[in-house]
Amino acid sequence: MSEVRYTTSYMEKIKRKPSLRRLNEKREKLRKELIPLLRKSFIRGSIRIQGNRCGGSKNCKCKRKVNPILHGPYPYLSFRGSKSNHSILLGKAKKEHAEKAVDNHKKIMEILIGLSDIDFQVLRYHSDKLKDGK
Ligand SMILES: [Zn+2]
Repeated sequence: MSEVRYTTSYMEKIKRKPSLRRLNEKREKLRKELIPLLRKSFIRGSIRIQGNRCGGSKNCKCKRKVNPILHGPYPYLSFRGSKSNHSILLGKAKKEHAEKAVDNHKKIMEILIGLSDIDFQVLRYHSDKLKDGK
């Protein structure tokens, strides 16, 4: 039991203090993955399937006060902009593009977070070898 504990804490020690060389290698790998993704569309948002109320007759089933039956459901892109959020209805062609762009944004953000982790560890453990802003 104590042996297992020792091994775990030893592994954590290694995890906590990665070599600068290893961090630089990881950073290079992530940068190489990032560049082609930046050349594609990326959208910060999510795709939701939801029913809607139409702009037609006020007697439509979707406008009933009790048990309304919504149209659809249809796919929407919920877009999170820098200043406001929007939602647009996705036709088939838009949906395909939106799915790829949303997925691409997710991948880009994961890589950016990974790069940030690396730079944090470099600052924490290897600040003596840092050049300004690099
Ligand atoms: Zn309706």
